[in-house]
Amino acid sequence: MGGTFDPIHYGHLVAAESARFEFQLEKVIFVPAGCPPHKREAQISTPQHRLAMTSLAIASNPYFEISDLEIKRPGPSYTYDTVRELKARLAPVDIFFITGADAVMQILSWYRVRDLLAECCFIAVTRPGYDMRGLKEMLRRPAAWVAERVIPHEVPALAISSSDIRRRVRMGRPIKYLLPESVEDYIRSRGLYK
Ligand code: ATP
Ligand code: MG
Repeated sequence: MGGTFDPIHYGHLVAAESARFEFQLEKVIFVPAGCPPHKREAQISTPQHRLAMTSLAIASNPYFEISDLEIKRPGPSYTYDTVRELKARLAPVDIFFITGADAVMQILSWYRVRDLLAECCFIAVTRPGYDMRGLKEMLRRPAAWVAERVIPHEVPALAISSSDIRRRVRMGRPIKYLLPESVEDYIRSRGLYK
């Protein structure tokens, strides 16, 4: 599961655990993005903070792991490169890339999307505010097999986003129960998002 994870929250964790169980995945590897190509303009916390928060958040789940491979790789973080690298390291293995409804609806614009979909299937999890009904049609347009490589998966709806959490911290509003307490403590102690 890739993401900026700035910060990681229960929306990410519920999606990952639900996909793990449903598709009988051996484990879920959280890969914080180094330099997300679609977020280049925005202010993003340092990779060290995002790695630390992700590690804290997944600590209690034996099936969850974290990888710093995107953060270590220089240049923009392309999922294609990440999936190739993971497959090479973990071979022989099948990879399922877990992504939310908002992100999956943009994959046609991703770097080398055809090659990416040849390398791995996508598990597209539902997310409040994003309608995935048109997704299959949209993906079928370039080629029928593109749509076949994306598997929709319904997860308990959590209308939580990192941007909302950052906004709440800035405004002094509560973030309790939106993310693990350990991550909340980390945000407070480092003074993030002020
Ligand atoms: P931001 O608001 O900064 O974009 P975010 O909450 O969308 O943050 P990301 O790190 O951008 O978090 O998301 C990583 C992945 O997790 C994406 O594929 C995204 O669609 C998915 N995701 C994030 N929040 C949820 C949620 N509440 N429910 C389901 N999927 C989610
Ligand atoms: Mg996002």
